[in-house]
Parts: sequence; structure tokens; C-alpha cells
Amino acid sequence: MLVHICCSVDSHFFLQRLREDFPEERLVGFFYDPNIHPYGEYRLRLLDVERSCRKLGIELIEGPYDFERWLEAVRGYEKVPEKGVRCEICFDRRFETSAKKAKELGEKRMTTTLLMSPRKSQEQLKRTAERFRREYGVEFVSVDYRSGGGTQRQQEEAKKARLYRQNYCGCMFGLRMQREEQGRLACELFSPVGGETLPGSIEERLEMYEKRLDLEERGISYEIVREKFLNYRLKFGWVRQKKRTVPSYILPYSTMKRRYTKGKVEREVAGVYLFNREEIRFLTLERYNRLAGRAYGSIGALISDPPSMEETFGVRRSIGLGPWDLSPVLVVEEIPEGKLEIFIESEHFPDVREKLVLL
Ligand code: SF4
Repeated sequence: MLVHICCSVDSHFFLQRLREDFPEERLVGFFYDPNIHPYGEYRLRLLDVERSCRKLGIELIEGPYDFERWLEAVRGYEKVPEKGVRCEICFDRRFETSAKKAKELGEKRMTTTLLMSPRKSQEQLKRTAERFRREYGVEFVSVDYRSGGGTQRQQEEAKKARLYRQNYCGCMFGLRMQREEQGRLACELFSPVGGETLPGSIEERLEMYEKRLDLEERGISYEIVREKFLNYRLKFGWVRQKKRTVPSYILPYSTMKRRYTKGKVEREVAGVYLFNREEIRFLTLERYNRLAGRAYGSIGALISDPPSMEETFGVRRSIGLGPWDLSPVLVVEEIPEGKLEIFIESEHFPDVREKLVLL
């Protein structure tokens, strides 16, 4: 039986139940989810499904990540809420490709772990499945492992196996709506110019879950714990003089009360240039290089290959800014004289992230 898999939390318990109920079947997992965005999140969910299938001894096939074709299919339904037409199209595509795969592999039956999700309408899934049974001749096995305490057991299994728990369905449209309802920034959709790993980002999670695989392979004990922290995202910012942009690098956690200010650099204290508004600090690139132990040749080089967050905090500390300090720090090649305009649009917000603790 081909089992379309959407994520490890849904598949780990589901596959075990299928094995109990269909002992004569050889189960083959099929990860086909081009709806998942961004790609880092797709990699993360796949990584955890691979780990789960390995633990259960179930073969897994990865389908194509044809994201652009998926986008094309849902065009016009971007703003439709979950469980609406967009989701029906999304299921159809995943089912259709899974049905084709089942036929290609000579499997007579198929099912999907989407049946586990409380966000999905079982009736909608069954209707779609019936259509493909007629078209592809593959029987859809519709099981209900949610009722009768199934959801609770699924959660217990997920906890026991330390599975990755995503906090949105998968696509950028559902994510954006969910974050709007929560009044939270959709920081999963941020992609920094320099490709650095931002705190609480998908990239950070992916690195952590890859590291845990390595720990497991080496037999090192670990725990995954959650922590609350102050997160930050820079949306947009610039420094201008006489309507010309002054190349600048804005350090993370730089925050302004109002997004825009005008003023000038007033004085220098121990190599740090103080602006007369918004507690803004300027550093020359040369001074920054010395503090960070780097050798950037230009602001452009710094922006395209910025240091890690730890190094940034080190620079902030070395100029006397403690862990709670949100003063803007701007690096420029030379300190501009005269009037400047500064614009910084950023958000800082309480967030939760996971951490690996070695035992
Ligand atoms: S909300 Fe989920 S099911 Fe609906 S279209 Fe997006 S990824 Fe697909």
C-alpha cells in the first residue's frame, strides 16, 4: 500500500496503526508535498519523516518538489481560508500524484496521513479520493485513527519519538493568514540578503535537527528543550545624506521608536560615534573589523556575508551595549559629517525556540 505522507507527527502513529490493521500489506511511504514553503521547511519535514520511517523500517520515496506548478494550480485562491477551495486543489494535486505513483509501482491501494490532521475535513478527503479511484483504479483506504483517543495517542507517540512539530499547515498563504490572526510576524517568510541564520528561523531549526541526527548516530544522549526569547527582524533601513544613500550595515536588534529620524553625529566616545537622536551609534568599518575580528573590505561585503548572531552580540557588548539594549548600531565606511536622515523599520517580539541540550 502506498502511503502519502505529509509530516512525521501525522505519519509516525498512522503508519504504526496501519501495520496493525493491515499486517499483510507492505507499506511504502511517499513524501510528496510541494505546497510546503519555504524550501527549508520542506527539507526539515522531510528530514524528520526519513528519521521516522527509518525507525519503523518503512521504505520512503521522495516525490518532486514542483512548487511552481503547485502555485500555478492554486492561483486565484491565495486568500481563501483553510479548508476552502485552495485546500481542495492542494489535496487533489497531492492525491493525484500519489495515485499515479501507486499505479506506477503496481500498488493497488493507497492512503494518506492527511487523514490524521485535525485541520482537514475527512469528507473532503474522501470525495477527492473517490474521484481518483475511478480515474486511476487505485483503491483509497480511508481510516479514522483520530477518534477513540487516537489524537491523544498520536501526540504521546510524537513526544516519545521527539518528532519535529511544525506550527503551520504548509503553504505561504495559510501561514500568512494564520500569523495575521495571531497578530504575529510571519518571520518564516523572511530570507536575509546575506543568508545568515536568524534566531528562531527555519534554518536554525534545520541545523538543530540535522545535529540531533548526528548525535543519534554517534549514540550521544540529548534532550530538546524550548526557551522564550526576544526575537528581532529588520524589515527595511537606510541612511541618507543630501538625498544620496550612504552605504551602511544595520546591526541586528537596532530599534527606533519612530521609523524615521533626522540629525547628526555629535561626538565620539571611545571609538563610538553618537548620533543626537534615538540613541543611535555609528562605527567605522575599520573599527567594526577590529571588534569583530574580521577583514571586510566594504559595507557591501559585510551585508552579503554578515557574521553570526553570537559575533554580533560580541560587538554590541564590546561597545558597552548589554543584552537588553536595542540601540541602533550602524556601520559605515566613514563617519558622515552634517545632517543625516535615518530610516529603520524593524520588529522585536517574544518568541519560542527549541534548543539541543547534551546530557
Ligand atoms: S493551508 Fe494546507 S492544505 Fe490548504 S492549501 Fe495551504 S498547505 Fe494546502
